Amino acid sequence: MNELPKVELHLHLEGAAPPAFIRGLAREQGVDLSGIFDAQGNYAYRGFVDFLRVYEAACTVLRTPRDFGRLTRAVLEQSAENGVIHTEAFVSPDFCGGRDLGAWREYLAAIREAAEEAERELGIGLRVIVTCIRHFGPDAARQTARCAAETAGDFVTGFGIGGDEGQGSKADFAWSFDMAREAGLRLTAHAGEWGGPDSVRDALDHLRVERIGHGVRAIEDPALVDRLAEDGIVLEVCPGSNVALGVYPSMRDHPIERLRKAGVKVTVSTDDPPFFHTTMRQEYDALHRTFDWDEGVFRDIAATSARAAFCDAATRDTLLERIGA
Ligand SMILES: [Zn+2]
Repeated sequence: MNELPKVELHLHLEGAAPPAFIRGLAREQGVDLSGIFDAQGNYAYRGFVDFLRVYEAACTVLRTPRDFGRLTRAVLEQSAENGVIHTEAFVSPDFCGGRDLGAWREYLAAIREAAEEAERELGIGLRVIVTCIRHFGPDAARQTARCAAETAGDFVTGFGIGGDEGQGSKADFAWSFDMAREAGLRLTAHAGEWGGPDSVRDALDHLRVERIGHGVRAIEDPALVDRLAEDGIVLEVCPGSNVALGVYPSMRDHPIERLRKAGVKVTVSTDDPPFFHTTMRQEYDALHRTFDWDEGVFRDIAATSARAAFCDAATRDTLLERIGA
């Protein structure tokens, strides 16, 4: 089942940067990043705050559109090696040109060129979900939403929000989500990872999203679990990320199986895979070992992901065909 075609809906482009790629950029730029790697060359950190420090340090060498084009290629190679045939990556104009529309277009062009090349050569498709950063505030989010709306199309297909769930209220971002929706973008929001069930409810009520990034802490509220199941809301679940950051102590404690059994549409993604020392293949392995998921379950999960993908109908049908659903 490890070789099954996989569809990934929740991946941060910078957060998926292979360590060797970041080391290569650092060498070219003469930047010393040795402090963020362990002896094996993996990202090394202790706890969430230190994770953010290491993540941000790694991102400092991602500067130009060309860097992001090369990053896209490195990330898609890594995903394709893990059997991923379609991936949706969060990309933020905050980090690609400081929310300037002209600069954002240049970054996007470089990312798209690399994605199209990877699709031809590796058979993996990419779509971009433009993401605003919650702790940068609602005004920055409006500028980000404008970048998203102006570039919406067959490549930029979604809009979302990430960042510190502890700051501000989701309602403050409703204007940006409305703008993105009017531009034809499909919507997702990080919630129910660090925030509890109310954060998931807020995302549904104020931002009117069709998918939730994580959303796993909905399990703490049975009425909310029922609502998710009835409304067909799709959860972009990242089990390895949740365990690595201590949202749950172990895979055995993770609620993905309870949510699935309750009829919630769960999918599987890696979030920031090298930072959490995971891959899609390792996620599949862990779920198989822990919950005894068989090939049928994984095929269902991949089909759910394909149906929830922010892509056109023809692409979705091709994905379903490749999955064998
Ligand atoms: Zn995420």
